[in-house]
Amino acid sequence: MAAHWLPGNRKMERKRLVMRFFKCFCVGSLLWMSGAGAVMAQEAELTETLPNIFCLVDRTGDGANSTFIITNEGVIVIDTRGSEQEAGQVLKAIREVTDQPVVYTINSHFHKENTSGNAVFRSGNSIIAQKRAQAMMILKAEQEQRAVTPPNLTFEKKLEIKLGQYHLKLIHPGPAHTDGDLYIYIPKWRIIITGGLVFNRIIPFLGDGYIESWIHALREMEDLDAEVIVPGHGPVAGKPIVTQMKHYLMELKRYVNDQLDDGKNLPDTMQAVKEQLKGKYGGWQHFERVDENIVRAYLEYSAQQGT
Ligand SMILES: [Zn+2]
Repeated sequence: MAAHWLPGNRKMERKRLVMRFFKCFCVGSLLWMSGAGAVMAQEAELTETLPNIFCLVDRTGDGANSTFIITNEGVIVIDTRGSEQEAGQVLKAIREVTDQPVVYTINSHFHKENTSGNAVFRSGNSIIAQKRAQAMMILKAEQEQRAVTPPNLTFEKKLEIKLGQYHLKLIHPGPAHTDGDLYIYIPKWRIIITGGLVFNRIIPFLGDGYIESWIHALREMEDLDAEVIVPGHGPVAGKPIVTQMKHYLMELKRYVNDQLDDGKNLPDTMQAVKEQLKGKYGGWQHFERVDENIVRAYLEYSAQQGT
């Protein structure tokens, strides 16, 4: 393991604390779920993926992952989970490890499972997002008549953050999982925190997505010098999960276009393409999302064929 700013004995102590937190968190989740009408907390597992880079991985396939980075000048939080209660668990995990303040909070995109805990981190310097993610967060909150803590620092294409010994590159790849995604690349540690762009062995949510440009964004990500991939959903893994996500979208595109070329209508396309995807992707979580994925692909590519 590479050089580490914390002394070794503190690190050992910290790992014990992390394990203790994990046990507490699972118990806490069960208690919340047992209450009538209580908030359904998502079970999540905390790991120190790289020195000072902690990932809280949702284990249900429904919630989004959260990451925090502890620097010697403060903490960076990436995605705040689906409720303030769950964000409180992220903050609790941080406090098990450090007393440093949370300086930056980053939203990878506007979806509620990534942003609903923002209020817990509002005392930090900035909440950061791509500018269209900020606009969508405010719009959705207005439509649904709910409170929101929107980002107060936005950017268009790229933003670099230096805090302590960590240098993060925030990159908006164009429309992909949504119209305002960002992913985070830390070259020194060869890690990418992908936000919604990568689902690891989970059929992606495509309701706000753009298949063609999502494939392009994943190609861009494949070209980066990275070894560790923190997906938005599912367990942390290596670079093959980026390629795996790309292949799913490319196959969805190819199968749907084959049907369009044959003049097939949507119901026939859904039946045929679902069967084609089942062999390779039937074991992924949320396979039922394939239906809406096919509809989305049919709309995107029939519009392209019509132009
Ligand atoms: Zn999402």
